[in-house]
Amino acid sequence: MSVTQRKMEIEIHCDKPININFTGKILETFEKFSQTGNNLNEACGVLIGGMNTENNTIFIDTCTTPGKQDKRHPKGYLMKDTKHQKAINHAFKTSGGTSFLLGTWHTHPEEKPTPSAVDKGDWTRIMKRNSDILPVFVFVIVGTEKISVYTYIS
Ligand SMILES: [Zn+2]
Repeated sequence: MSVTQRKMEIEIHCDKPININFTGKILETFEKFSQTGNNLNEACGVLIGGMNTENNTIFIDTCTTPGKQDKRHPKGYLMKDTKHQKAINHAFKTSGGTSFLLGTWHTHPEEKPTPSAVDKGDWTRIMKRNSDILPVFVFVIVGTEKISVYTYIS
């Protein structure tokens, strides 16, 4: 692919010691959609993966990218496309249940991204809806210089 690929700094926020493994393609995707250059609108998708509790490692296998039905704005997004749920269902089925919805990612037009009130509300809703079935949640905001990762272990 691109030879001018930059490596964005990743900052992990979690109240417990945790390792996070992103497969190579995911970081490439984040950088591709970061709001630099002509990427004016926020991008969004779901994060799919699992957790190895023996070594406290979250592995993020794959992520979805914006779909046609998603609403994208310079400062905001609405995930409407059915491709996200389809990808979650597919991963869950083909992995035999070890790969599942971890959370969401989206971009921000700021260097060091922090969650907005809307973001925090979205995350709380997702966690409330899934806390009985999922052991861990990961939310990523991709800024223009930095990637902020927020992890919650239930
Ligand atoms: Zn946001």
